[in-house]
Amino acid sequence: MKIMKFGGTSVGKPQRMHDVAQLITKDSDPKIVVLSAVSGTTNSLVEIATLLAAQKREEAKEKIDTLEAKYQEFIKELVQGEEALAKAKAILQEHFEFLNIILKISYSEALSKDILAQGELISTKLFSVYLEEQGIDHLLLPALNFMVIDENDEPPVPQISKNLKGLLAQHPEKKLIITQGYICRNARGEVDNLKRGGSDYTASLVAAAIQASVCEIWTDISGMHNNDPRVVNKTLPIEQLSFDEAAELAYFGAKILHPASIWPAQQYKVPVKLLNTMEPEAKGTTITSEAASKGVKAVAAKDGITAVNIKSSRMLLAYGFLRKVFEIFEKYRTPIDMITTSEVAVSVTIDSDSALPQIRKELEALGSVETEGNMTIVSIVGNEIADNTQTLQDVFNSLTDVEVRMVSYGGSPHNISILVPAAQKTEVLQKINSGVFKL
Ligand code: ASP
Ligand code: MG
Repeated sequence: MKIMKFGGTSVGKPQRMHDVAQLITKDSDPKIVVLSAVSGTTNSLVEIATLLAAQKREEAKEKIDTLEAKYQEFIKELVQGEEALAKAKAILQEHFEFLNIILKISYSEALSKDILAQGELISTKLFSVYLEEQGIDHLLLPALNFMVIDENDEPPVPQISKNLKGLLAQHPEKKLIITQGYICRNARGEVDNLKRGGSDYTASLVAAAIQASVCEIWTDISGMHNNDPRVVNKTLPIEQLSFDEAAELAYFGAKILHPASIWPAQQYKVPVKLLNTMEPEAKGTTITSEAASKGVKAVAAKDGITAVNIKSSRMLLAYGFLRKVFEIFEKYRTPIDMITTSEVAVSVTIDSDSALPQIRKELEALGSVETEGNMTIVSIVGNEIADNTQTLQDVFNSLTDVEVRMVSYGGSPHNISILVPAAQKTEVLQKINSGVFKL
C-alpha cells in the first residue's frame, strides 16, 4: 500500500481537486490519500479562533461568512450534478453551522482545536463527494478515529498502527482510502492537531503505521532544490537524499517538508518521495535510508534566530557549567539549535524568544549575558561533507565580507552551519551558490 499526501495548494481550487483525482486513479494500486485543508483555510480558522479568544465575535462572524462564501463558489465548480451539489451544500451547512454555534460558546483552548479541524474535515468530505460523482470507489476514513497523540503530545506509532489496521480490516474491499491530514485526538480524547503544517506528519505516521511501500508528498514544486529558488537565480533539483540530510534541510529552513515528518518514515524505513502536482512526470526527490553520494547537496536558511552569549570566568576549568546553562533552556522548553563554546564563554541560538526575558534573568546568575536577535542560520548540508576539506574551503572562501557570528562544524558529519545577520541572508545564499555549488 502507498501513501499520497496532497497539500493545501494541491487541493486549493476545484480544478486542482480534479487533478488530484486523476493522479490517485492513474493506477489501481491500493493507497491511502491524505489531504490538507484548502489553502488559506487554516489561516482563516486561526484568525477566527484568535478573534473569538479576544471576544471579538462580530469580526469572527464576518470571517466565518467570508470563508463560507468562498466555499459556496468552490463547490459550484467542483461538482456538476444537482445531487452532488446538494451533498456538498449539506457538508458546508453542517460545518459552518458548527462554526456559528461556536460563536455563542465561551472560548477555550479545546474549542479552538475544534475550529482548526474544520479545514481538513471540509476538504476531504468535498473531495469524497466529487469522487463519488465521478463513480470512483473509495472510503473516507476519519483521521479522528485512528490518529492519536499521547500525554506529551507525541504520536505513538504502534497505537496508531493498531487503530488504523483495525479499521482497514473492516473494509478489505476498499483500495482507495481518503483521510485528513493534521487532525488527531489527544490523550483526553479531544480533537487536537499535529501543529501547523502537520499534514506531512500525518502522511509519514500513516506510512509508518501500515509499513507503506512509499510515502509520496505532493506539493507545488518539483522536489527539493539545492538552494532557495526565491532567493537565488539558479537552483538544481536534488534527486536523492538520505533521511539524515533531509532532516537537516527540513529543520534548517527548506520549506518543502515538515521537519517532524522525517522520523516516522526513517524509523519504519518507508521511502519518502517529494513530487509536484503541477508536473507529475518530474522526478522530484526521493528520500531513503541510504545516502547515494557523498558531498555537498544543498543549503538552507532558517530565519528568526536569536543568539545568546554567556560569558563567565567561572566557566574556566569548571565542570557542570554547561549543564546549568542547558537546564535553564530546558526549564523554559526552549530548544537550542547551534552551540559554540570557548573556555570562558558559550554561545547558543534559539528560534523562539517567547521565554527569553525569563531565560536571560536566570542566565545572569551564571555570568554576563548578551543577546542579539534577527539572525539567520545558514546550513550547508551533504552526506559526510564534514570530511571534505574542499567544501570547507569553498564555504569560507565564499564568505568574504560576511559578518559570520557563529560556526558549527563537526557536530553532524552532514552539516556545516553559520550564523549571520538576517540582512545578509540573500547575499550569503548567493555567494554559496556560486562559491560552493559553482552555479
Ligand atoms: N492545514 C494545516 C495547516 O495549514 C496542516 C497542513 O496543511 O499541513 O497548517
Ligand atoms: Mg504543508
